[in-house]
Amino acid sequence: MKFVVAVDCEGPACVVGSPGGSLTDSRNFAFARLQATREADAAARGLFDAGATQVIVWDNHGGSLNLDYDLLDERCDIALGVGFPHRWPGLDATFSGVLFVGYHAMDNTADANIAHSFSSAAYQWMKVDGVEVGEMAIDAAVAGLLGVPPLFCASDDKAVQEAAHFFPGIETVTTKTGFGWNAAVSKHPRRVVREIYKGVQRAVARRETSRPFQLPSPMTYEIRYKRIEHAEAASRGMRAGERVDPYTVQWQLDSITDRF
Ligand SMILES: [Zn+2]
Repeated sequence: MKFVVAVDCEGPACVVGSPGGSLTDSRNFAFARLQATREADAAARGLFDAGATQVIVWDNHGGSLNLDYDLLDERCDIALGVGFPHRWPGLDATFSGVLFVGYHAMDNTADANIAHSFSSAAYQWMKVDGVEVGEMAIDAAVAGLLGVPPLFCASDDKAVQEAAHFFPGIETVTTKTGFGWNAAVSKHPRRVVREIYKGVQRAVARRETSRPFQLPSPMTYEIRYKRIEHAEAASRGMRAGERVDPYTVQWQLDSITDRF
């Protein structure tokens, strides 16, 4: 009964970006960090109250160091910083599940709040074997290689739909309805906290029906860049991929962990 809660900062209640900038540059960023902390804490409390023996909260927005660790339930362990050997620090095959709190929809999702895939500045989209994927699918696939299933997602309505598409039957909480990159009608943040606490407990109760998520291995991994010089750079040098068209580069990977 060990779990990792992966925490991003775009998906929590009452979070949007600001015109022309990233979330990090937004006037909303201080609240985003506070609400991401509250939602992570609600997930952790729900897990412990459902019998968890260990919960690692992984603070992974941007360069990490976003959450107010003092406000997290003190039974948590916390993965922070950058430069880990792979995604999901601390995760191994003995864990029962991973959870997504504050994640966001992938690139190319209309009316989702701050939808992007790893880099809103650089990427138009990412595909695996021709299918668009976002951060939840990539991260779930990395956990899937250890046999650990995704159990729960809390985010805006578009990201929740995406989670349900990739991970059928996953337990979810919708924090807000997206009406655009920077436009949402949000549930009140304190109500969302209560819903996450309960939703996580439903997810733990149903965990035996959850399956690890897999992407094909080997696979074709493809990125369409927003700027032509980024595609140019990606097709040259040490980890060069093959230039498919002026803006698109692809790599043949044996496994998703070759890149993530
Ligand atoms: Zn983020």
